[in-house]
Amino acid sequence: MKIHWQGDRLTVAEGDITRFEGDAIVNAANRSLQGGGGVDGAIHRAAGPELLEACRELRRTTWPDGLPVGEVAMTPGFKLPARHVIHTVGPVFAKSEDRSELLADCYRNALHLAAEHRFERLAFPAISTGIYGYPAAAAASIVAAVMRERLPALPGLAVTLVFFSARDADGFLKSASL
Ligand code: ADP
Repeated sequence: MKIHWQGDRLTVAEGDITRFEGDAIVNAANRSLQGGGGVDGAIHRAAGPELLEACRELRRTTWPDGLPVGEVAMTPGFKLPARHVIHTVGPVFAKSEDRSELLADCYRNALHLAAEHRFERLAFPAISTGIYGYPAAAAASIVAAVMRERLPALPGLAVTLVFFSARDADGFLKSASL
């Protein structure tokens, strides 16, 4: 499934993000940057062990206490078809607290880093909507708002939102009202 919004600036796709060919994919990592389950595990498996070594180096040099929620850090993509991985840490969903700005920060900071590096093709997974429990519909509204706000100012960048199933992609489109 491929749905385009604003020409080819934003694509909603179903598939495995580890197969994305472009300048970078975003990883829904955890603070430790040591790999994990879900999309993080899939990215580490596909990239090979050098990715874990690069993440360990980031911990040693830049983020000794781990990557804060909403922040981004970049490594090469190693064996991935994507040239780079932008690691970010989404918020764990909590009913007691509005963490939408933290989720928006993941997307904004990744877009900003990609633009700084003059990247042309960037893909995101649905950050925080798996193990971290963010309701997909709420996440969709946040992501759509960030894209609507930021993409017009980043004319060189095409973004793909990759959903693991057609149902997830469809759910996003229904909730996002792009
Ligand atoms: P988080 O811990 O941020 O919630 P998860 O990895 O648990 O991250 O899930 C984030 C989203 O990524 C989920 O919607 C999940 O279905 C999806 N996902 C898992 N594996 C892949 C993959 N290989 N490609 C694209 N999306 C994936």
